[in-house]
Amino acid sequence: MTTAFYSHPDCRRHDMGRGHPECPQRLDAIDDHLIAQGLTAAFERREAPLVTLDDLALAHSSGYVAELRDFLQQVAESGQSRAIDPDTIACPDSLGAAMRAAGAAVAATDAVIDGEIENAFCAVRPPGHHATRAAAMGFCFFNNIAVAARHALDVRGLERVAIVDFDVHHGNGTEDIIANDERVLMVSFFQHPLYPYSGGVPKGTNMVNLPVPPYTRGGEVRELIETQWMPRLEAFRPQMIFISAGFDAHREDDLGQLGLVEADYAWITQRIKAVADRHAGGRIVSSLEGGYNLSALARSVAAHLRVLAGV
Ligand SMILES: [Zn+2]
Repeated sequence: MTTAFYSHPDCRRHDMGRGHPECPQRLDAIDDHLIAQGLTAAFERREAPLVTLDDLALAHSSGYVAELRDFLQQVAESGQSRAIDPDTIACPDSLGAAMRAAGAAVAATDAVIDGEIENAFCAVRPPGHHATRAAAMGFCFFNNIAVAARHALDVRGLERVAIVDFDVHHGNGTEDIIANDERVLMVSFFQHPLYPYSGGVPKGTNMVNLPVPPYTRGGEVRELIETQWMPRLEAFRPQMIFISAGFDAHREDDLGQLGLVEADYAWITQRIKAVADRHAGGRIVSSLEGGYNLSALARSVAAHLRVLAGV
């Protein structure tokens, strides 16, 4: 069975300005490193389609989708970038990128459910896990993973899916969208306190939130995953697993102060894959969230992909 790698040139065109950490070069760094490692033959490259408005409405309010599209269209027509919040800047190419990023996760979900591929990684931007039901924030426009998870449930008829979020920041947007949707189990760890300063108290019974203090190392995170995530995931028996794959908990990443390394990302991916193999026929869709040290990001994505592809 195959691992697919979804991306699109439009995702590179979204540009939040000079010096912004969520930059187009992130995708170049990943591509370059995969080529240098000889890993490109390990997966099938696929082009991300545009997401449909119906799919966006599965995770976002229809008012928000219409409002954000209008805003991004105005930015495109004006040719001038405009800030949504101090960290989140829309440029003339942002609408296309945001629709490809969400479209990648949905297309990957369909391909996995249809049995064309076993699993997929979406190398896309903008990321998604801070986007709430009705607001863009924290570099995120549409919540790519929440849209895909709802697509699996509402359109493809799955009954139980898990979302695993290992970004250093709390996935407040995903939590906002899926809290108390008992068809979804969300497990995460994140540095706390750190942007967006939420998650200390979970919003729903279907959340396993593991806030950890600055300078927590990979070994301690692994222990928490083994004792807190794994029993819940095993009991839930997800039919498919979605990963908000942020790599900013890496010890070389300056946006957080955690101490993970590539081997930790490989280990976490192995633990997720074990659950997927036992309960979900191996079905995993992983989508890029954070990760801002270009070298550490590229090395960590490669470690993650090696496990997904079994090479
Ligand atoms: Zn992050």
